Amino acid sequence: MTTTEMSTKERMAIPRQPMPELAPETRRRSFAEVNLGYDAETAIREATRCISCRRPPCVAGCPVGVRIDLFVPMIAAGDFAGAAQIVADDNALAAICGRVCPQEAQCEGACVLERKHRSVAIGNLERFIADWDRERGGSPVEVAPPTGHRVAVVGSGPAGLTCAADLARRGHDVTVFEALHEPGGVLAYGIPQYRLPRNIIAAEVGRIRDMGVALETDAVIGMADTIDELLGDAGFEAVFIGSGAGAPRFIGIPGEDLVGVSSANEFLTRVNLMKAYRPDATTPVYDLEGAHVAVFGGGNTAMDSVRTALRLGADRAVIMYRRTVEDMPARREEVVHAEDEGVEIMPLVAPVEFLGEDGRLTRVKMIRMEQGEPDASGRRRPTPIDSTEFVEEIDVAIVAIGNDPNPILRRTTADLAHTSRGTIEVDPATGATTKRGVYAGGDIVTGGATVILAMGAGRLAAREMDAGLRHGE
Ligand code: FAD
Ligand code: SF4
Repeated sequence: MTTTEMSTKERMAIPRQPMPELAPETRRRSFAEVNLGYDAETAIREATRCISCRRPPCVAGCPVGVRIDLFVPMIAAGDFAGAAQIVADDNALAAICGRVCPQEAQCEGACVLERKHRSVAIGNLERFIADWDRERGGSPVEVAPPTGHRVAVVGSGPAGLTCAADLARRGHDVTVFEALHEPGGVLAYGIPQYRLPRNIIAAEVGRIRDMGVALETDAVIGMADTIDELLGDAGFEAVFIGSGAGAPRFIGIPGEDLVGVSSANEFLTRVNLMKAYRPDATTPVYDLEGAHVAVFGGGNTAMDSVRTALRLGADRAVIMYRRTVEDMPARREEVVHAEDEGVEIMPLVAPVEFLGEDGRLTRVKMIRMEQGEPDASGRRRPTPIDSTEFVEEIDVAIVAIGNDPNPILRRTTADLAHTSRGTIEVDPATGATTKRGVYAGGDIVTGGATVILAMGAGRLAAREMDAGLRHGE
């Protein structure tokens, strides 16, 4: 019986196909990719689980509207080229999304199978088909004839890259300005390569370049050129700001300036972007061989930091989190992977003071916490329990409690309204800021969020900017 002849009942009886992965004892000291991807046979079997709903809720669950209802049945039928073309048309960063999207809260969370069986593994299938396509040179992407309109994009994270790709496909002349020496935003400087290999980012950025997008790195807008200058002498008609939220927050306790305490952003950027683990690196991190490393926080950034520390030789790598494990905002898969690799999780504790000798961190004074009344986030507010202080021997502390937008653009741009949190104010229906011709989206608007929400914002703004440019607004 071919897959297309199977009944709905037979399809639903197929269990969700697990993602093959490197064994924990192999991967805990290696930067090789942990998830290995489906082979063709497994992909077809997983795709066959899709029951082709008449009104597929998964598509609405994807912020960039990937036509899941088309590409998944094509995989089930073995039409990989057809599926690849759909995915390439809908998502400029499909191999990345297939790896890092929180699918459980997006497309897969909406899948009708989720309640009784488990959802179709849409992310794993998107990754499979995007990898299959890349290995064969990539499906062609149609680009409209030049319109003569010039657009500047500030920041090359997922928001900026998606906006740039969508505008380029509509025929506009797009230049992306990126402050760092490599494009990709958090994809390049934050997410470690054992989750997102660098050749995947390079290939997807390469495809966007092939659409005609110009990319200028080492270009900090607000310093070299301001947004007003881009819209003035530089001759751009519109600007999209996708500058993210890359300024780290600190805890604000004594001893935070000791050597050995750093922000997760600094730690991950040094390791991911500046190869700090190499002995000849110009921006090294501390020698983590045999070290006791504590990471403060419970999100993806904390998980990436602690697992990176383990891979750099840490003897003890521990997450110290003020709420419970269930409250941790990190993806479940990350928490499970971290624990399998030997990461310790210490919930309901908070740091009180970093203690050191000769200016170098040696210990952290902690206090136990309990769950209080719900706070604004709906989670129960953690409060310290009197007289429960204790001290942990820690050589390296990494603070991963969140990031804020860098203030440079709002300080150097006239007429750009922002919130008290430092994020840029936009009309949510269009992505337009209060400044004429300027749009914004991604973490600079929402604060730290997700890759796919940033991409959705880039797509929305591109659509609106295109309409505005065509109508001469
Ligand atoms: P960014 O990715 O931050 O990109 C902004 C870019 O703008 C940067 O490259 C920056 O250098 C550049 N820039 C800033 N200012 C200027 C300027 N003045 N001039 C020129 N360029 C400028 N989300 C997920 O969905 N899944 C995950 O697994 C996940 N893991 C994460 C792990 C870490 C460590 C971190 C920090 C975040 C993670 N996130 C994850 C969140 C996700 O990466 C972000 O929400 C997303 O990258 C935001 O995209 P963006 O384009 O808005 O900004
Ligand atoms: Fe799901 Fe993300 Fe792919 Fe959209 S881009 S279909 S949310 S995995």
